[in-house]
Formats: sequence, C-alpha cells, structure tokens
Amino acid sequence: MKKNLWRIGVSAAFFLAGIFVPADPHWLSLLLELTAYAVIGWDVVWKALRNIVRGQVFDENFLMALASIGAFFVGEYSEAVAVMLFYQVGELFQHYAVEKSRRSIGELMDIRPDTATRLQGDEAVAVDPFEVHPGDRILVRPGERVPLDGVVEKGTSLLDTSALTGESVPRTVEEGQEILSGCVNQTGVLTVRVTKEFGESTVSRILDLVENASEKKSKREAFITRFAAVYTPIVVIAAVLLAAVPPLLVPGQLFGDWLYRALTFLVVSCPCALVISVPLSFFGGIGGASRMGVLVKGGNYLEALSHAQIAVFDKTGTLTRGVFAVQQITAVNGQENRLLALAASAESRSTHPIAQSLQAYAAGRSPAPAPDTVEEIAGRGVCAVIGGKTVRVGSRAMMEENGLLPEHAPEDPSGTVVHVAEDGQYLGWIQIRDQTKDGAKDAMAALKRTGVEKTVMLTGDNERTAREVAGELGLDAAYAQLLPDGKVRQVEALLQEKRGNGTLLFVGDGMNDAPVLARADVGIAMGALGSDAAIEAADVVLMNDDLSRLPRAIRLARRTLRIANQNIVFALAVKVAVLVLSALGLANMWFAVFADVGVAVLAICNALRALRAPT
Ligand code: ADP
Ligand code: MG
Repeated sequence: MKKNLWRIGVSAAFFLAGIFVPADPHWLSLLLELTAYAVIGWDVVWKALRNIVRGQVFDENFLMALASIGAFFVGEYSEAVAVMLFYQVGELFQHYAVEKSRRSIGELMDIRPDTATRLQGDEAVAVDPFEVHPGDRILVRPGERVPLDGVVEKGTSLLDTSALTGESVPRTVEEGQEILSGCVNQTGVLTVRVTKEFGESTVSRILDLVENASEKKSKREAFITRFAAVYTPIVVIAAVLLAAVPPLLVPGQLFGDWLYRALTFLVVSCPCALVISVPLSFFGGIGGASRMGVLVKGGNYLEALSHAQIAVFDKTGTLTRGVFAVQQITAVNGQENRLLALAASAESRSTHPIAQSLQAYAAGRSPAPAPDTVEEIAGRGVCAVIGGKTVRVGSRAMMEENGLLPEHAPEDPSGTVVHVAEDGQYLGWIQIRDQTKDGAKDAMAALKRTGVEKTVMLTGDNERTAREVAGELGLDAAYAQLLPDGKVRQVEALLQEKRGNGTLLFVGDGMNDAPVLARADVGIAMGALGSDAAIEAADVVLMNDDLSRLPRAIRLARRTLRIANQNIVFALAVKVAVLVLSALGLANMWFAVFADVGVAVLAICNALRALRAPT
C-alpha cells in the first residue's frame, strides 16, 4: 500500500511537471508524461499483455492500457497519464476497502491460537495446537485464548466468549464444565483436558466457515460477474465502431476526433465499480453479521434471509431453554426412586435436553446402574438394555406404538411427560417442565415487525405443551407430535405457502432436526456452542442462544441488499450517462476518468456501510 502511494506521488509529480512546462520543445512534455506513465502504468500494461497471451483479452487492464496508449497516439499525453493515475488511485482505494472489511471480520476471527501449553508431567511446554490430542492436558493462563475444546479439570475462571457469541458478559467456568476454544480466559489459571483435535475444535470450525463464506455467491454477485463478461467486449466493439464508422460515412468528420471519443468510451467502459462494490457489500454484510455473533455461510443466504416470509421454529432448545425441571414422578408400583434410576440410566448416553435434565436430577438421588446397550429413537425417546432387561423411556406415542400403555392410563398432564417401561411392563411416568427462553416472545414480535408473515412451531412433544408454548409466545401456528421426518413433511407443506420470492427459515438446535435444517431455504442453527451436527447442516449459525439476533440479522441482510442494489443502479446510471455524453463528444477523457473513479469510490464507501451491525 505504501509503495503504491509513493508510485502515485512520483507519477503525479512528473504528470504535473509535464502539464506546466512550456509547450514549445514538444518532446519535453512528452518525455515527462511518458515517465509519469511508465511509473504508474507499467504493471497494468504488463498484465494486459500477459492476459492477452492467455486468451483473456477483455479485462479492465486491457481497457485501461488501450485507452491510455491510444491517447498518447492522438497526442493527448496528459489525458493518457490521467487515465492511469486515477485508475490506480481507484485501485488503491478498493484495496483499502477490501482490507478494511477483511480486517474487521479478521478481528472477530482473530481467534486462531498460535500455541497451546501442554502439561507433560509437572512441566508446561508450549507446543503447536496441532500437536495436542484428545486426552492431553493443557494449561490456560489468564489473558490467554483457549486453544482447543475440552473440559476443565482444575480451576475456576471468568471466560470472555465474545469472539464466539458476540456476548460481552463474561461467563464463569469451573471444574467439570466444558470449555470451548476461542474464548479468552480472564481471571484464573485453568487446567483443561482436551476433548477434540485442533482441526475439529470450535475455533477451526468457525474459521473454516468464515473463510469459505465468500465462495457462495449471491444472485447479484453472480449477475455482476456474468454482466461484466458480456458488457466489456460489447463496449470495446462499440468503441471501434465509434472510431471508424462516422468518419467513413459522414463527410467532413475527422478520424482523430472520433478516435478520441472512442478512447473516452473505453475509459468509461471499465466495470470496476460494479465488479468490486457488489461483492464487497455482501462481504461487509457477512462481516457485520459475524460481529453480532451470527455466522452466515454465504452471500446467497444473506439474500435469502432478507426475503424471510415464514419462520419455523423447533421447540425444545430453540424456543424453550431445554432445561427441564422434574415436577412429579408417578410409579405404578410406588417405587419412584427405582423408576428415576432406570430412566436416568437409560438416558445416560443421550445428549438430548430431556436426557441431560433427567441425569442431572437423578445424580445424587438415585444411583443409576450402567446400561448394557442404548438405542436412541429420534423424536421418541430411548430404548436401553439394563441388567438384561429392556427399558423404554420416552413419549406417550412411543409407549402406544409398543403397546406398553395400560388400558386406562390417564391423559398426559400439562408439560412434557416421559413414560418408562421395563420388559413390556409399564412402570410410570415423570412429569417435567421446560420454560420459554427469556426474550423469545419479544423476538417473535420483532420478527413480525421486520415483515415475517407467519411464525410456526414444530415439535415432537405433545399437543398440550405445544399449544401452551405457542400461546405464550404468540406464534401463528404449532404442530405437535412430529417425528423428524414429520417435521420435514410439515416444512415441505409450508414451503408451498410461500409467495413471490419469499423464503422459509427454519430455526433449530440441531437435536433431531438436521434434516429440516437442510430442507428449509435457510437453515438456522442455534447455539453452535453445543451441537456439531447443527453447525454442519445449517446455513446460518446463531452463535449464542439469543433469538433476538434473528430479527437483527434479517434487518442487516435487508440493508446489505439495499446497498448492493443502490450500487448497481448508481454505477450503471452514471456509466450509461457518461457513455452517451462521450459518444456525443460532450465528455472528455478527464471527465470520464473522474466519473469512473468517482463512482467506484462512492460505491465502495457505500458498501462499507454494510459492515456496521444494526442494533
Ligand atoms: P422438539 O421437537 O420439541 O425439539 P424432540 O423432537 O427432540 O423435541 O423430541 C420430541 C419428543 O420425543 C419429546 O418431547 C419427548 O417426549 C420425546 N423424546 C425425544 N428424545 C427423548 C429422550 N432422550 N428421552 C425421553 N424422551 C425423548
Ligand atoms: Mg429439538
């Protein structure tokens, strides 16, 4: 960047000298301008030649080289240099803008740790994070970034998770808790037992995701690329015609005049403003989103997000906290403790929120025997073999399917109910209750305000709970007792309801809903801090569990699209105007260059606005 500034300065000095020296020895100003040209333009001419050899004739280097060399031939030396000089100023500016937005994403993404401190016996050795493997223990001192995912073995501390979640309030961690790479340890020394290879740790996954984001192009970006490919050759042909036809056909017209007009035409024809500013807008939008803890996997998803029409949510862990409080245990034979122990044991290998909650509740109350085998039945429950007996733990539907529910079993009470059966015998049920997330209601209202027309909840839970939650949050519709494939079918039905270019969003936590995440126009996973499956299957990841980020993300997507559209319209309008003026001989090369660089600079400044996260 510095070097280019110097080049521009030196060239500008020769350029000005060339303008102000007396015109008399003609070669003097030519010499000065040629020097200025050589300093500023050699690389453009070189690139143009190289690309011609490679068969890629019509690029911006070619246009600029042709226009400026042409200007030398018609005797407009200072114009020739001006074309190059301003072109390079524009390039410099573009470079700066791209760097700036990359850096601001990079700032957030500055989470790649250089080293990890591995404990080997009593010794702490700094090693490459790639050399640390699951099972190793590492030391994380205050002020250091956690290099790999793991579990805290010793110590308590405050963690700054803002790089991952955009959340500024620090979180406490203590022994036995999971800790994610990318967070910054603030207060205490932690000993961490590593659970994942570096390549699979949260840091690496997030970095991969962001680095690949610009490969998925939005429709607008794809349009601009295609547009530039046809537009440039058309303008060059038009320029040739402009130079050749009028002097041949109209008597008295000078070839020199028309050649000059044609060259001006070429200068204007450079589509740089469009080619750079539209992708830059999307890049900025993705950057702005990641600043508020929303990772968008590509410009195309930003575009889809901006047209959100139907928002579909999973219940457990998405709209509700996924932390169930046990309210009542009812055992047919009066042995409540045994029922709880069996349930906790059967659930001991499941990561489902229900399983986690039951285990936590049972711990310390009823010692759970280790199961022999466990099978998880998505959207239903689990089936385990414990001490040679088959234990089923799950929804009422699961019991009914297996003919386990006794004839006159009472209706499920309010809340979520987990039924338990052992070896074909119904044992009883555990009534548990979840709570809706703080702010979920406001988030639903905010979604409606951004123009989402319909909010829908899908759940595998029973009708009654579904109705309660939907009522509490003010949702438009709720569908209950859905298995994972039922959710897919329901989403497919909802996809039919969309109108125009509206899109359907599905928001889930990745538990039993990965197929739906993939099926929706935009699959949005909550809380990437937990589920690996979610971050893989989703198009957008809300890094923390805060639903209010969703309407904000939609607003940001809309703004990004608006900015991209403004740039397209503005740049094209100015181009067309200047093309017409130069064909009519009303615009000289100076004007053309200013228009071109000016449009590019303004469009880039506009694109940078996309970086700001809305509140
Ligand atoms: P949601 O659609 O609300 O996110 P799931 O599809 O994960 O819920 O589960 C649907 C229902 O299946 C739960 O309400 C519960 O009755 C039952 N279920 C699923 N997994 C388990 C489990 N591990 N233990 C007990 N019940 C389960
Ligand atoms: Mg779920």
